[in-house]
Amino acid sequence: MPTIDATRLLKDLRELARIGAYKTGVHRPTYSADDMTARHWFATRLTEAGLQPKIDGIGNVIGRSAAPGPKLLLGSHLETQPHAGWLDGALGVIYGLEVARVLGQGIEVGAWADEEGHFGNFLGSRSFVRGIDPAEIARTVNRHDGGKLADALAQAGLAGRPRARLDPARYRGYLEAHIEQGDELDTSGLRLGVVTSIVGIWQYAIRFEGVQNHAGTTRMAIRRDAGVALVRLAGAIEARFPQVGGPRSVWTTGRILLEPGAPSIVPGAAEMLFQFRDADPARLAAMEQALEALVAEANAGPCSVALTNLSRSTPKLMDAALQDALERAAERNAPGMHIRMPSGAGHDAQIFAEALPAAMLFVPSIGGISHHYAEDTRDEDIVLGCQVLADAAAEILGGG
Ligand SMILES: [Zn+2]
Repeated sequence: MPTIDATRLLKDLRELARIGAYKTGVHRPTYSADDMTARHWFATRLTEAGLQPKIDGIGNVIGRSAAPGPKLLLGSHLETQPHAGWLDGALGVIYGLEVARVLGQGIEVGAWADEEGHFGNFLGSRSFVRGIDPAEIARTVNRHDGGKLADALAQAGLAGRPRARLDPARYRGYLEAHIEQGDELDTSGLRLGVVTSIVGIWQYAIRFEGVQNHAGTTRMAIRRDAGVALVRLAGAIEARFPQVGGPRSVWTTGRILLEPGAPSIVPGAAEMLFQFRDADPARLAAMEQALEALVAEANAGPCSVALTNLSRSTPKLMDAALQDALERAAERNAPGMHIRMPSGAGHDAQIFAEALPAAMLFVPSIGGISHHYAEDTRDEDIVLGCQVLADAAAEILGGG
């Protein structure tokens, strides 16, 4: 089996982390000056590895191989969340580079733009796998400052470049390594996770209509307080969902608004944004049914309650044969120190799974911390993960 160069791998990760460094982490939003510096830096590394890199019209950096024969695609993303960690995305991209250096011309590597969603969701991988409508580019704006995507692309020097498209026939599959971002591996003392599926996320807006009135003169008995109705429903969800959710289900009220939101006014309206996640479609449907029943109960009270679904993404299964290859490589390198697990976070691999056999490998996040500058993984786990990815890639390319 091929042996990766641990020193070279860690040196590249640390060098990349200096671009947009923030405290012990990185601040590299999509298409910012630092993000583009990182993309060009990575393209240079791909050239040194013997690949032919291109930065396409959406900012994807793709290193192609000129050699004949079967190919395997490896990758992840280079941009970061605001003031976030040094490994989220970067780990999988640099693993791809190192595996290409070790295995040679069968490996191609991609850094998919804006996985972190500063502008859209999975902009780069969707553009590559499905193609992206120019009308979407024209209407998309930056979530944080409202700036237009088209202007950001022009500023980044990407305007007018063609957007690369996936040729599924070219590849045996897509592999993405990533930090776990949760604490399951770290807490259990395990070192590798073979991802079975990427969860579906179902999102809702729940709107409460009551009667706005004076907080001093309106007697409690006659109030129709939309804020109270919201809090009661949120409490009822917390009481009910543990019974309908599975062992890995998660649910979150991420935002609550009271209108008009003043100390001396009984809220006349209120809104909450609610989501849940699970890898099992039947479980997701059961949770939606439970939510509908709770909303119907709440609607029988003094305020009217309306439930609106905002999105339902389907769970994406990872390819069984690729999972097996990752598991065999994990067992060779770290016997008994790996598990199969679903991913509670979204990743580019879920987009690739629409067109190619796709699979993911997780390494532990210390304390389960991610999307924060304190995010970290032990050096020995970083090195082990790359070796396992290289072994699995060699087996996948070698077989047949
Ligand atoms: Zn990520």
